[in-house]
This record gives sequence, C-alpha cells and structure tokens, in this order.
Amino acid sequence: MIVVMEKDADRQELDEVLANIRKQNIEPVAIEEEGKTIIAINGKMEIEKTKGIEKILDISKPFKLVSRERKPEGTSIKIRNLEIGNGTFLLIAGPCSLETRDQAMESAKILKSLGVKVMRASVFKPRSSPYSFQGMGIEGLRILKNIREMTGLLVETEVMDVRDVKIASEHVDILRVGARNMQNYDLLKELGKVKTPVILKRGISATIEELLLAAEYILSSGNPNVILCERGIRTFETKSYRNTLDIGAIPVLKRLTHLPVIVDPSHAAGNRELVIPLSKAAVAAGADGLLVEMHPDPDKAWSDGEQSLFPRQLSQLIDEIKPLMQHG
Ligand code: PEP
Ligand code: MN
Repeated sequence: MIVVMEKDADRQELDEVLANIRKQNIEPVAIEEEGKTIIAINGKMEIEKTKGIEKILDISKPFKLVSRERKPEGTSIKIRNLEIGNGTFLLIAGPCSLETRDQAMESAKILKSLGVKVMRASVFKPRSSPYSFQGMGIEGLRILKNIREMTGLLVETEVMDVRDVKIASEHVDILRVGARNMQNYDLLKELGKVKTPVILKRGISATIEELLLAAEYILSSGNPNVILCERGIRTFETKSYRNTLDIGAIPVLKRLTHLPVIVDPSHAAGNRELVIPLSKAAVAAGADGLLVEMHPDPDKAWSDGEQSLFPRQLSQLIDEIKPLMQHG
C-alpha cells in the first residue's frame, strides 16, 4: 500500500500515521517527493484516512513506488536542462570506455556535430577478465566533467562501487548501474542517497519483476530519478548476437511502471551491424531513449569496438529512428 500525505501535512500528522502503521507491526518506508511525504507499506492493512492524508492507494504488487498505479500519468526525469520520459525522447551515445583525454574529446566533438546532447563513457569498467582494461577511474571522472564544461554536453558513466557514488555524482550528470550490478543492493541503496539520475540496467538473467524491485530499492532509499534500461538478456543464442534484446520488456515495463524505459542495443547486439535495426525496433516499441556505443575509430577501441558504431553510422541511426518516434 501507499499513503500519500498532503503537501501541507505537519510533522504531528505524519507521526500519527507512522505510529498507526507500526502498531500493526509493519515498518513503513517514508520518502519525500515533490514536497510530499509518501509512505510505502509492504502488506495489506487497515489505514484510516486521518488528517494530513491526501490519498491511500491499495497496491498489492511487491514493487510499489515504481508502480504505474502510483503515478498513472507517468514520470519525466529532469537531467539539468534536459528531460526524458513522458513524451520526451533522449539519445545517449559515446564510447564504451573513456580511453584517453583526446579520445574523449574527439568523441564529444562528433556527438556535438550530430546534435547528440548526452555522452556516455565508462571510467569504471566491469570486465570479464581481470587482465582487461579496467577504466581510467577518478581521473576519467575529471575528464568527463571537463568535457561538460567545454562542450555543454551532459555526461553519463557507470558506477560499480558504493565508495564511488558520491564522487561520481559530483562529476557527471547521470550514473549508470551495469547489468552485473543490478542486484548489488548496497550499491542501489547508496544511489538512493543522491539525487543524480540513475540508469538501471536489467541484469543478464533478471526477470522484469527483479528489475522493478531493484529500481524500488533506489526510490525507497530516496532517489526518485531512475531510468530503466533493457540491454539484452542471456538466452541459448550465443553465436549470432551477444545477448537477446527483449523487445517485449518495453511495453510490459511501460505498463507496469511510471519510470522512463530506454534500450541499449549495443550490448544486446555485440556487433555494429545489428545496432540500427535493434534501435528502430526499440523506438517503434515505445522506448523513451537509447544508449548507444559510438567510437571515433571503432577498430582501435580498447573495449567493445566490434559493437561500436562508426560516427557516420550514428548519423544514419539518428535519421532512421526519426520517423518511428511516437512522441517528441
Ligand atoms: C556498458 O554499458 O558499458 C556496459 C558494461 O553494459 P552492461 O552493463 O549492460 O553489460
Ligand atoms: Mn561496452
């Protein structure tokens, strides 16, 4: 269940509601959103509509704050001067990894020339092998911040460790939780302590409900700014593409949650020839945005070169998705 308090409810009214819930041996979770206190309760119980309560929603699903029932009108998330969701589409593109200052600058220039507004580039890399390039770390964060200052592009990067959340949120505009960390609950709770928008990727074998519960961790810890990302799941097909893009997840998620839903066609595809068709499918299915890998010189990329688009292919992608957009 969810109890939404009125904007002008006072402390005493809130304490009374919380005490009533606790009396029934249930621990409520209270968060602040748009000046209102919202209380999430796991389980069914009797709640009287006492003074200060705006509404009581009977949400029986395990995920509550992220559920569409809680916000039927949908959510658009503000990222500095930009927005995503609820009719506003956002394209995020850039290299898999930030390799050098020059490579990052070169990527930023290409993105600017194509009209892309947000650059992705990982500085903390989750690599299958400990011998592979692990990312530039904190120095990479400084370069990303510098890119924003010099170009006006917003910047996005992955965070893997709870100890990096604060510093990363001071340097970039969007934080990303990679597929391998979708169920790193300590990391999700830490991301709830900042207000920086978070792209939460679906785990390699995660169900839709597990993804929504992972998002619920971030919201219930205090950060409402979550964007969900479908990036392909592991199936029996391993040769023809890296993962199987679950297109069905897009309309299902949009029905179950008010949060924006984006798609990463690059990690689903594993090779660049599939990225444009998968992007078109995602946009046609109602995705609120795309997260795409592009490298100035993909054949020389330090990671994921084979799935990174050439600049001219990103330009082609932008042209080809335009007619498919259902909104903005
Ligand atoms: C990435 O986007 O850089 C990445 C590592 O993707 P995923 O977590 O989806 O594998
Ligand atoms: Mn990658």
